[in-house]
Amino acid sequence: MAPKPATLAKAHRAARLADLGRTHHEIATTLHLTPKTVENLLAIARRYPTPAAVQGPAFPDTSRAACRDADTEMFMSDHRVIQNDAKKICASCPVLDACLEYALHWQLDGVWGGHSRAQRRAIQEERGIVPQPVHRVAA
Ligand code: SF4
Repeated sequence: MAPKPATLAKAHRAARLADLGRTHHEIATTLHLTPKTVENLLAIARRYPTPAAVQGPAFPDTSRAACRDADTEMFMSDHRVIQNDAKKICASCPVLDACLEYALHWQLDGVWGGHSRAQRRAIQEERGIVPQPVHRVAA
């Protein structure tokens, strides 16, 4: 099961800090997490790497993401009705704009920033953005 947007973004935030040489303990302190959670997030980042770990718009503050405690499946569903439920959660999300901007630059499935993949594709075409592939690596 793919991690939900907020989890993936947080995982890559942790990975960026790790790339900067921070220890698990320092990352945990910075992100207000336990070292065990940091360990899990780094494993997710390794499994679902995106170029965002190195470049591109960063996902700013996952601690405030409205989907933090939501069901992952809702955001990854192909079902329009279920997607609409996810979009309703996005509608109240304080980081919606940043999330959408982040998602526009990568080939991501599901609902991000209140938009389905098809909706993001329309914006990408309009703005001339070529989304970069996200490679899933076997665990
Ligand atoms: S905009 Fe939607 S997908 Fe993005 S972090 Fe907020 S709730 Fe999650």
